[in-house]
Parts: sequence; C-alpha cells; structure tokens
Amino acid sequence: MNVLVINCGSSSLKFQLINSDTEAVLAKGLCERIGIDGRLVYQPAGGEKEITEADMPTHKQAIQMVLDALMNEKTGVIKSLAEVDAVGHRVVHGGEKFASSVVINDEVMAAIEECNDLAPLHNPANLIGIRACQELMPTAPMVAVFDTAFHQTMPSKAYLYGLPYEYYEKYKVRRYGFHGTSHSFVSKHAAEFLGMDLENSKIIVAHLGNGASISAVVNGKCVDTSMGLTPLEGLVMGTRSGDMDPAIMEFIAKKEGLDIAGVMNVLNKKSGVQGLSGGLSSDFRDLEEGMDNGNELAKNAMEVFCYRVAKYIGSYVAAMNGVDAIAFTAGIGENAGTVRKMVLAYLEYLGIAVDEEANSKRGEDMVISTADSKVKVAVIPTNEELAICRETVALV
Ligand code: ADP
Repeated sequence: MNVLVINCGSSSLKFQLINSDTEAVLAKGLCERIGIDGRLVYQPAGGEKEITEADMPTHKQAIQMVLDALMNEKTGVIKSLAEVDAVGHRVVHGGEKFASSVVINDEVMAAIEECNDLAPLHNPANLIGIRACQELMPTAPMVAVFDTAFHQTMPSKAYLYGLPYEYYEKYKVRRYGFHGTSHSFVSKHAAEFLGMDLENSKIIVAHLGNGASISAVVNGKCVDTSMGLTPLEGLVMGTRSGDMDPAIMEFIAKKEGLDIAGVMNVLNKKSGVQGLSGGLSSDFRDLEEGMDNGNELAKNAMEVFCYRVAKYIGSYVAAMNGVDAIAFTAGIGENAGTVRKMVLAYLEYLGIAVDEEANSKRGEDMVISTADSKVKVAVIPTNEELAICRETVALV
C-alpha cells in the first residue's frame, strides 16, 4: 500500500509518499512559507527536483498542491487519490495520553488538542495538517505517530523533576523526551544490524542533529532520555542551551533587561554551539572548518558539545548498569566523524576502541568500533518517515 507521511509545522510541511511493500520512496518534498506566500519543492523518485512558487494561504491549499503534484500527468507518481491508502502524521507531543501511535478519530483529535499547552508551537500546526488531510482525503485512514510516545516507558524516577509534586499533578510538569520515533527506529535497527537480541540488550542512542537528544534503551524500552518537558533540556544543541543552572535565567533577565519571552528566545535560538562560537554557526561543518583554521571559539563550541554528549552517555551507562552498544544518528551523528571521535575518546574506560578508518566514512549503517571493543559502536542513519510509514501500516 501507499502511505503519505506528513510532518506539518506552523508555516512548512514535509511529505513523503512511500510504498510500504517495497519501502521505496515514490516522491518527497516540502511546502514552505505557508500563509506568507508559498513554495512547493517536489521530487519524484529518480527525477529532478521541481520548485513551484505559488500562493498557499492555508495548509489545506498547501496539501492540495502536494496532492496535485503527486497526481501530475508528467511528473506525478499516482493517478488518483484512491492510490493513497493511508496517511501517517508526525505529532510532536502526546503528553501522558499516548504511549504508542493511534488511528485518528474525534476523540484522538481532542486528546491531541489537550496537549497543545505542552507544545504550543507544534501541536496546533500538527492538528491543522491532520484536519486539512481529512477534508481532502475523507476516506483515507489517518494515524498519529508521536515524538514523545517511545519515552513513555521511562520510570517516574527518570521523569520527575525535583519540583513541588503538585506541579506534576496539576499541570503534568515532567520529562517527556522527543525524537522518540528516531530513538525507537535506531535502537531496533542497531540491535538487528549488530546481531544482538533486542529483548536482552542495553543500547544508548545519540540522536545528534540540529536538535539533539540521547536515550537509554533497555530490552527495547526507553528508560531515560535527555530532553524534558520541552526540547530545551539536555545536550548543548545547534542553537539551544541544553542543561544549565536555572538561576541564570533571572541573572540574564536583569543584566540584559529581558522578560521571560526574551530569555527563552536566547536559550532556544541564540545559544548552543551557535552562541558558544560567538555567532559563527550552528552547523558542524562550519565549526569543524573553524576549528581546523585555528578559531578558538569554534573549538570551544565543539569541545563543550562533545563533552556534554560523553557525560550523558556515562550517566546512562550508570542508569542501565552497563551498555552493550552505542548508536550515533541524525545529521551530526551520521556525518561528523570528528565529533564521534571526540566523544568516544572519553569512553575508553568502557573498553571502547574506535576503528579510525570506519569512523572516517559516513552516511551508511556501519560499525565504527574495532572487533575487540567491549562495547559495540555503530552509525545508524535514522529514517523517521519510514518509521511513521511502518507504524501507519501496522495500525491500518
Ligand atoms: P534537524 O533534523 O534537527 O534539523 P539534522 O539531523 O538534519 O537536524 O542535522 C542537521 C545538522 O547536521 C547540521 O546543522 C549540521 O550541523 C550537521 N551536519 C550535516 N552534514 C554534516 C557533515 N557532513 N559534517 C558535519 N556535520 C554535518
């Protein structure tokens, strides 16, 4: 069957049409600047990328353009909407209500809406995307796949903050974690690729992209992860601060004359390696180049990033009382051999030995530890769209 995978943001929308039997991507692309002006990028498998500038005042119009492109006589990949058998939607926050993917109905829509408070920038956009698809494809079954669901197996000792318990009871203030679809996909695939029994395994997944998080997975179930109530907690990221002394917020607010929104903007958009590198870049290609050219701030940023990753891995080895395998994934994890090398240098005490030649490659499933390494280390490219497609097929 053909599954349309939709990842809808406030002004953008990414899509892939996947044949679930062969797991081949038939076409993919994105709509940008929805509600501003509009741009559709469309690419059929094996074909050229097409860019169309066209007004898309609403998400419904954007999705209509995607469907028209998919059915286009020349470059389309299907003849009619009947060939879209199901739609899988990425939904950012499922709160405590969703520990797995679900077929969408009115009750599910209401429950997702109740989680809007927890992800005010993302969930409303996800809902708009679902409603638009329902209007345009009223007979296609739709599935919601949540970023938070995989982490719902965390025990309370991992998800509770050291705050008054009533905040958890009243407002559900707790750690949820994100990138769950990726952590789930990569941990399962790592076990398979490394010839391990998932049901009897301790795996750490380092999803290092512009947003970055780590998870500890025991026997296929998440027991801890680095992001929290929001994606701001944990690792130092492209532009997000990650963990820090919460009192810094008041201190900076006073010094810089900022209100809460102003401080949050700094922590989300101006911090991380971008902030640390003095504004040089949030992109690790630029930081690596800067470091090679003797830029001290770029070097600092890389070192702070890698040190934090290594500390999280160490803490998860303690949380799991051991580790069998570590898997690197996402933009940085898959491509930046320098980052992997700098992180793994801290972990020699675990008996990890890096195969330098393997580590210098990128972009494919590979083992980067030596044959005698006590802990296996692998690079496993993530594929959230394929994971959403598989979940959708399983439910419909
Ligand atoms: P997100 O999905 O969170 O936007 P990605 O997983 O796509 O992020 O990762 C994007 C990041 O990956 C870029 O900002 C860049 O830092 C890093 N990256 C991509 N390619 C390379 C590369 N060849 N070398 C080093 N870093 C890379």
